[in-house]
Amino acid sequence: MIRERKLLKTALFSALLVSLTACSLESSRIDATSGEKELFAAFASGVELAPISFNYRDAAQLTCLDQAGMDIWGVGQDANKARIAYGTMTLSQLKVAQSLGLKINYLSNVKLENTVDSRYHNYAETLAELNSLAENTPNIAHLVDIGDSWQKTQKEADRDICALRIGKGDLDRKPAVLFLGEHHAREIASSEFVLMLAKYLVENYGKDPDVTAAVEGRDVWLVPVVNPDGLEVAFRGSNWRKNTNTLYGGGIIGNLSQGAGVDLNRNYSFSWNKSGGSKVPSAETFRGPKPFSEPETQAIRDLVAKRKPIFLMSYHSFGREILWPWGYTDDPPKDKRLPAIGKKLAVLAGYRGEQACDLYVHGGILNDWAYGELNLLPFTTEIGGPGDGFDPPYERMDKFWKDNLPGAMYLLKIADNPDQVFSK
Ligand SMILES: [Zn+2]
Repeated sequence: MIRERKLLKTALFSALLVSLTACSLESSRIDATSGEKELFAAFASGVELAPISFNYRDAAQLTCLDQAGMDIWGVGQDANKARIAYGTMTLSQLKVAQSLGLKINYLSNVKLENTVDSRYHNYAETLAELNSLAENTPNIAHLVDIGDSWQKTQKEADRDICALRIGKGDLDRKPAVLFLGEHHAREIASSEFVLMLAKYLVENYGKDPDVTAAVEGRDVWLVPVVNPDGLEVAFRGSNWRKNTNTLYGGGIIGNLSQGAGVDLNRNYSFSWNKSGGSKVPSAETFRGPKPFSEPETQAIRDLVAKRKPIFLMSYHSFGREILWPWGYTDDPPKDKRLPAIGKKLAVLAGYRGEQACDLYVHGGILNDWAYGELNLLPFTTEIGGPGDGFDPPYERMDKFWKDNLPGAMYLLKIADNPDQVFSK
């Protein structure tokens, strides 16, 4: 585990050094660089999917690669403040990247399998924790089954999508705030953070004045694991992103991420068919055959449409970013509270804040639907940076917690009147 982590860190660092020399490259090239020669050699020797990094200039370049089905893991900034992206590429995606003038670094030491620190909570452990919070503090916490995972609908597994609802009194009359983790299976820090938040609110009720005010004045919903089947696959070490639906093809579930499943955060309506998301079942951003084709997105849709939370915060990893609608277009949202609150959250976390499309154009996402259809105020947090990847050691949760708790508490605080963001 430690040795693998060192390898990953070494590879990311050396890739950073290589890319520093290339970040101003803009002209279109077809000749392979040394990094790309290695990459071509790897493809020639039978590698189908290679871990890579590259500097890029703007969101349009990442959008092209996303539409080519590239699995973009996350983004960051290098020492020159140039944007750098990490992910995997196939040979055909490499050719698309070259046509865009991008110089690709082959991260030959980065493994496609993850090593999940056993101190993270898997699905069953997360559910047990939520259950005990509800059982031990029935005056403020309730476990709610909001739907089934895909494998449960197929009678292959018994996994419910569960929420912990925290609050006191007539909750339906209070401003609701929804926190979500694990749309994407391998992003294990996201479910862990939401679970930690649930415990923090329950355990500090009556002790911390801000927590007490939130519990007494808000209707707080926490869904740590939107994608229970995917999380199980991820815990086996797979670099898995989607749910595990095999009905649309895409191959057999193995240890590599190319295969079955629907990208749950490309399966929402509103911007589903406008831009972003792949029509190809094997692609990591496969949007599904129609909006809300998956039981997991149906569960979130039904909860959100019924309860209409003032704020939604959906945690992902990685990129150290706060994102707000729109994702499918670079038109700014009409509701100016979105960028105002998003920028405030970014300051609180020490992350970068931007409209989701500025990462790259991507439709079919939860937040476009929640804002576009229901006029809610949804945000995304990309926890951690490229050095963390998808399987950071559990100690890193301390840092993620310190970075992101203030934003979560801020949303709870202003949920009775989001216009407070404009007051001095
Ligand atoms: Zn994600």
